[in-house]
Amino acid sequence: MFFLGIIYYLFFLQRIIVKRRDGAVYIAIASLISFVAVIIETLSLNNLLPYGRVTSFSFLAYILAQAILLSARFSRSFDRVETLSTELEEVNISLEESEKKYRTIFEDSKDIIFIAGIDTKIEDISPACEEVLGYPRGELQQMRILDVMVNPELQSQFEIKISTQGVVRNFEVSLRRKDGRKIDALVSATLRRNEDDKVIGVQGNVRDITDRKQAEFERLRALKFQEIAITDPLTKIYNRRHFYETAEKELERAKRTGAPVSLLILDIDHFKTVNDTYGHLAGDQVLVDLVGLCKEKIRNIDTFARFGGEEFILLMPDTDRNSAYETAMRLRKVVSEKPIAISDEVNLPITISLGVASWQAGETTDINTLLNQADHALYQSKENGRNQVTLWEDNKHD
Ligand code: GH3
Ligand code: MG
Ligand code: MG
Repeated sequence: MFFLGIIYYLFFLQRIIVKRRDGAVYIAIASLISFVAVIIETLSLNNLLPYGRVTSFSFLAYILAQAILLSARFSRSFDRVETLSTELEEVNISLEESEKKYRTIFEDSKDIIFIAGIDTKIEDISPACEEVLGYPRGELQQMRILDVMVNPELQSQFEIKISTQGVVRNFEVSLRRKDGRKIDALVSATLRRNEDDKVIGVQGNVRDITDRKQAEFERLRALKFQEIAITDPLTKIYNRRHFYETAEKELERAKRTGAPVSLLILDIDHFKTVNDTYGHLAGDQVLVDLVGLCKEKIRNIDTFARFGGEEFILLMPDTDRNSAYETAMRLRKVVSEKPIAISDEVNLPITISLGVASWQAGETTDINTLLNQADHALYQSKENGRNQVTLWEDNKHD
């Protein structure tokens, strides 16, 4: 029975050694010592060995094994604590570095970065607020972000947008600085949420775009001036000056490429009678509507301009004399077939006379010569009874 117990015990020990349980080897050694001690004592009690009671010494082996086991465990735990604290220290350092990095962005940003509570009351705001809004940081921390918005309507629009969509991007507003001056700004914001996804406020940034807006305004104003400088105020097509600039460039280009260029001059027949009969305003209406009719029949690459009074000019790049003649005929036709409404009651039939001149590769003609040729051809159309087109080449008087 005793030996059976010992065999079971040894089997149990072998298993914990195989499974590498903590300190199994020490316990195994202690057990082995006990086992040998029991055998020695048994043999001694039976007078087969001369030693006497030795099993109590084997307990010492157990105590030693336990002591070694405990100190090994303790030392391992200590090592683990040390590793953990080193790791924690590293995490702390990297957190500190990251916090420093974001803090630098926050502190140095030219845009205002703000963090506000649920009531949009500012909790933290970057130093840019001093330059952009003229408020010391501390003062703004008592205010709501909406308080500096000039337009109350925009304030509520902003509030609705952020609460319904959770985000507002580049919301254009006018803000009032502490000194009362208004600035243009873009506000972007998102809702802040806690771990339970509960809204706890808003955060975002404010970008001062006053300079950008001013530059854009100046650019548009310059464009407007430029447009005014080249446009006829009544008919809104190009004026004579712009025509000259464009025509000279086009003729130079044509001389380089060898492509033909044509131009036509058109003049309203008996326009003076229109003014005399229906008044100057009706005459103006005729000029505006005539331009509208002609514009429908010309290409984008053509330059249509008011040459003066009731005379208009059309420059047609890449167009030879035959095509130019066809265009002139089309214009004559559309005008003669479409009376112009100068009042609710009066639809006035109008006719135009036209002269066409062309430049072809090899010719030395300049723009003024070409204009003279077209003008002569126009004169010929008038001479021949008006409402007709004359090509310069057909003009026998010159
Ligand atoms: P023709 O068939 O020979 O061209 O005769 P016309 O009456 O059209 O030519 P004329 O040169 O005798 O008259 C041109 C008229 O155009 C005279 C001028 O009062 C009028 N006119 C010029 N500019 C304007 C304008 O901006 N508005 C109006 N309503 N009339 C203008
Ligand atoms: Mg006329
Ligand atoms: Mg005229």
